[in-house]
Amino acid sequence: MRSFPVFLRVDGRPPLVVGGGELAGIKTRLLLKRAAVVEVSAATLDDELARLEAAGQVRQVEPEPGIDQVRGRPLVISATEDDAEDARVSAIARALGVPVNVPDRPELCTFALAAIVDRDEVTVAIGTEGLAPVLAQRLRATMERELHPRLGNLARLAGTFRDRVAAELPEGAARRTLWDRIFGGAAGQAALDGDEAEAERLFGAEIDAAVAGEQESKEQESKRLGRVLMVGAGPGDPDLLTLKAVRALKAADVILYDGLVGEGVLEHARREAVLIPVAKSKGAHSVAQADINGLMVEHARQGHTVVRLKGGDPFVFGRGGEELEALREAGISVEVVSGITAAVAASASVQIPLTHRDHSHSVTFLSGHAAKGVGPDFEGIDLASLAGGENTLVLYMGVSVCGEVAAKLIDAGWSPDTPVLAVENASRTNERRVASRLSTVAATPERLKLKSPAVLFFGEVAGLEAEGLVDRVLDEPGLGAMLQDGLKHIMLRRVANG
Ligand code: SAH
Repeated sequence: MRSFPVFLRVDGRPPLVVGGGELAGIKTRLLLKRAAVVEVSAATLDDELARLEAAGQVRQVEPEPGIDQVRGRPLVISATEDDAEDARVSAIARALGVPVNVPDRPELCTFALAAIVDRDEVTVAIGTEGLAPVLAQRLRATMERELHPRLGNLARLAGTFRDRVAAELPEGAARRTLWDRIFGGAAGQAALDGDEAEAERLFGAEIDAAVAGEQESKEQESKRLGRVLMVGAGPGDPDLLTLKAVRALKAADVILYDGLVGEGVLEHARREAVLIPVAKSKGAHSVAQADINGLMVEHARQGHTVVRLKGGDPFVFGRGGEELEALREAGISVEVVSGITAAVAASASVQIPLTHRDHSHSVTFLSGHAAKGVGPDFEGIDLASLAGGENTLVLYMGVSVCGEVAAKLIDAGWSPDTPVLAVENASRTNERRVASRLSTVAATPERLKLKSPAVLFFGEVAGLEAEGLVDRVLDEPGLGAMLQDGLKHIMLRRVANG
């Protein structure tokens, strides 16, 4: 088989489906994605088709169609599930030169139905010459994920500006550049975001700027159009990026990224995008932070789409709030895209729920930096009120202070037996999990051999981790030394049982 892909109009004489059963119903529904009405040739209609008829989308015509019923159709699908009848319909259609399809009978077909990714006016049709329909379906699923659900909006809006662009701009490069700017920039994004008024305004502004054609006015325009997307990159595994984050990366002219952003995440950036690492070195926070703010403002003012990419979620210990303030002060428009924060990723990978009806009714995310003060409190957090196992405490930035934190928790009345679970490099290929007890962490935190980045869970739920997923550091004398060497608990059992 050799086929050429085309799009057939179905807004003239309705397409004809022959057959009134389930298969005919499936094909009819497919055609109704574009055709306003489908005529169905059958003695009786099954429930689904009858429902469509009642809704005015199907018109029943007499069964066993002849030449007059077939002539002039944009296409005919014969799905009677009666071989002889399908062959007869196919013969008539072919004689009249009307495109015909009989499901699963390639020899009776003059066209094949594509696997369709449907975004209203934007349609992607996938075909494999009938050789590998399942491959086509897989490709379809991939495209479904890739293509923005509101792509149709974008095409529709572009359609409404087409005449104006044709009238005001010369054909060729000028128009192409304009449409590229619109589809790849803030105007297109607004249409995809469903903000029609804003999209229309930005489309108009882009066209104005293109028409004016003066460098100066263009610069002013771009000043207005620059923006910052503050995007959570998740815990490291690129599969844990949101679709919105991927779209933002694809739209970015400039990407300022943190040290915690995982490898593979940046692969979603366009080849032309400028990538700027802005990992903050400990201790030089304030200066570096001011520099980061400065870079964001500077690039946005040049009219660029700037992505500020942060590990995990931008608003969980990510200084997102401070950067947001700086951008607002500079009058730059910002959008925040949430990401999967380390605690949530770690909880999933170790299979411990952060809350549990029987074990924990609240979760507290705590920064190790807040632990530096004296006394059993963390800057206003009442640890005593969280004690008793009914709560989960997750410590971020706690590798160097986990011993201190554990001691404070015991001071605040937490049981020394409270389970503790540390997850290092959650979601990354070098992820490591270590289970222990509060007393051990307080007395000998170095036995956990933790390296940054890691989160630590304190509370009942930390004891629920799936057996076999973790290394154990417990308090049994003599065993500790072996466990320090990273023996899995399954081996511990063997030792314990002699
Ligand atoms: N905004 C980030 C947190 C930044 S603070 C988020 O939402 O996850 C940096 C701390 O995050 C690290 O010290 C560590 O505690 C934690 N962290 C970040 N990525 C991690 C990972 N992959 N595994 C474990 N902890 C991680």
